[in-house]
Amino acid sequence: CGIVGYIGSKQAAPILIEGLQKLEYRGYDSAGVSVYDGELIQITKCRGRLMNLECKLTDSPLGGSVGIGHTRWATHGEPSDLNSHPHTNTNCTISVVHNGIIENYLYIKEWLKGEGYTFITETDTEVVPHLIDYFYNGDIVDAVMKAVNKIEGSYSLGVLCSNEPEKLVAVRKDSPLIVGLGEEENFIASDIPAILNHTRKIYLLNDREIAVLTRGGIKILTSEGKEVIKDIYNVTWDA
Ligand code: GLU
Repeated sequence: CGIVGYIGSKQAAPILIEGLQKLEYRGYDSAGVSVYDGELIQITKCRGRLMNLECKLTDSPLGGSVGIGHTRWATHGEPSDLNSHPHTNTNCTISVVHNGIIENYLYIKEWLKGEGYTFITETDTEVVPHLIDYFYNGDIVDAVMKAVNKIEGSYSLGVLCSNEPEKLVAVRKDSPLIVGLGEEENFIASDIPAILNHTRKIYLLNDREIAVLTRGGIKILTSEGKEVIKDIYNVTWDA
């Protein structure tokens, strides 16, 4: 029920956890993070309180300065370690966090199974990384764009790809997602308080807009891939 994403030069995991704590008020049953460690996408996730996730991360920390985090409120598939987000494609090169419901997931799941894809969870979300994988041809933004054209329902998504770790891709429809602009670091989140300790400069995404974050900048595109020029919203209040 909450999403946080970070790309910059600091350690991502503590920033993700801190952001998820600020989103705890939204309610959740599980939590998880993915961090790119310089070579691979590493994932830690579990059922229960954020504290459980923090304990796991204290025992085996995830190092890296690009990552996505999630608190889940299960809609499809029971709350469990396996059904917690992030979800990935089979070889773990694409990692996805999702808030909302993919209404046509059963149809997409059956279709992808016919294409040779294997599913390991009961979630609606798991179709998303596989669908992005299906469309991936060296350009993660293009693949996300094609994937969201196929899915129906409500979603805010954060996407990491280990082939293009200098990018963090986000998209939303009927589920909240904002983008935070920092100095040589950028953020995504379900809600502004999650990142208010780091920046007060925000882009508010409209439905179907895609945000492409790098360390040095943010590009916002329409669902057809046209660049959108947006005003920065300066947050003057405190959470
Ligand atoms: N529908 C997804 C699931 O059940 C996401 C739920 C959420 O918004 O946290 O895993």
